[in-house]
Amino acid sequence: MTKKRIAIDMDDVMAATGRKILKTYNHINSTAFTEQHFENKSYFEIFDEKNYHKIREEVFKPGFFRDVEVMADAIEVVKKLHEIYEVFIVSAATEFPNSLKDKMDWLEEHFPFISWRNVVLCGDKSIVAADYMIDDHEKNLKTFKGKTLMFSAIHNQMVNGYQRFKSWKEIEVFFDNE
Ligand SMILES: [Mg+2]
Repeated sequence: MTKKRIAIDMDDVMAATGRKILKTYNHINSTAFTEQHFENKSYFEIFDEKNYHKIREEVFKPGFFRDVEVMADAIEVVKKLHEIYEVFIVSAATEFPNSLKDKMDWLEEHFPFISWRNVVLCGDKSIVAADYMIDDHEKNLKTFKGKTLMFSAIHNQMVNGYQRFKSWKEIEVFFDNE
């Protein structure tokens, strides 16, 4: 029997990238923003324009994505899913060319059981077809034809119409019942 396919996003799903952006922004601008400032808002709405450019420069630098923390329970649950499903890591990363190597190295370090064949680094996820998609952005989920799982993030609290998951443990329970 063919295994069903799951497309899993990296930033703010497998990797705590938002946390690093916030930390870096506060560090370079001597600010003290917390996650709560970003409830239902994008970074762009909070960071002032001048400083937003500074953080964008940081995100474009080689190494920015290399040391991002892994989300709690992601390794354990993705590993379990990988045993039952065909897991693909799908990241809209080509906007940040230096991130491509960082992301491959990061996956090799934390998710060595994921083959390079199962990594899709792209610019637009509407090209992606699979049975399930786990993502924090509505723009990626809304064009997806399979089942959508919205990974809850501070910036997507106002988005309705998707099954929402607050943790990898909740995702594990969902797939236990599939
Ligand atoms: Mg994401």
